[in-house]
Amino acid sequence: MMADIKYNRVILKLSGEALAGEKGFGINPPVLKDVAKELKAVHDKGVQIAIVVGGGNMWRGVTGAQLGMERAQADYIGMLATIMNALSLQDALESIDVPTRVQTSIEMRQIAEPYIRRKAIRHLEKDRIVIFAGGTGSPYFSTDTTAALRAAEINADAILMGKNGVDGVYSADPNKDSSAVKFDHLTHMDLIEKNLHVMDTTASSLSMDNHIPIVVFNLNTAGNIMKVVTGQQVGTTIEG
Ligand code: UDP
Repeated sequence: MMADIKYNRVILKLSGEALAGEKGFGINPPVLKDVAKELKAVHDKGVQIAIVVGGGNMWRGVTGAQLGMERAQADYIGMLATIMNALSLQDALESIDVPTRVQTSIEMRQIAEPYIRRKAIRHLEKDRIVIFAGGTGSPYFSTDTTAALRAAEINADAILMGKNGVDGVYSADPNKDSSAVKFDHLTHMDLIEKNLHVMDTTASSLSMDNHIPIVVFNLNTAGNIMKVVTGQQVGTTIEG
């Protein structure tokens, strides 16, 4: 592996909103192309990339439940939304000649492979970007938790949490509190003790128990994914 690479195998968590652009809803192909270009540059460096996509740009189970749906049923709709996002991202990556495989946690054999851990690792070793779709396949979980779970399963060196317009973890909401300060480094325990909401608690505890570093950074700044994998100071690193 190349000497200037800090993280050789990463899980990139892309929220649904990261694929929606300014409207915040639906799929925005030009935005996808930009993300794909960033990923191609990192992939060309030899970094093994697996992506967990969210679905919040289309549907969130919690919202459906608030409107009177059964929660589990609403969550399955959310999982399907993540699969639409995954196929869109695959299209953007393959249009610039990056080899990819989509693996779904809910079988959908006509459009993607089922999730098979060993096969996913093999794809990474063969320089294919793997896109994990469908979340964990179970309701009541999130794609943040999926990212932590898959990171542990494939032995990823870090989880890259690309955020929309937020460049790291702050002591308070910087939009509401002018005294808010950004942290460069935190431990997993700091997140709990300081009550900082980087991921949901299930995702957070899974990352802590398995000692997986998390880097929170602004996805909208060009070149940031490359900076993270090459170990340059960007965003907030949570480890230890
Ligand atoms: N979801 C689920 N189980 C999972 C992952 C996701 O039920 O393991 C559902 C859940 O309803 C969630 C929706 O899929 O609201 C979209 O995922 P998420 O909210 O994590 O997407 P993001 O906020 O990252 O766009």
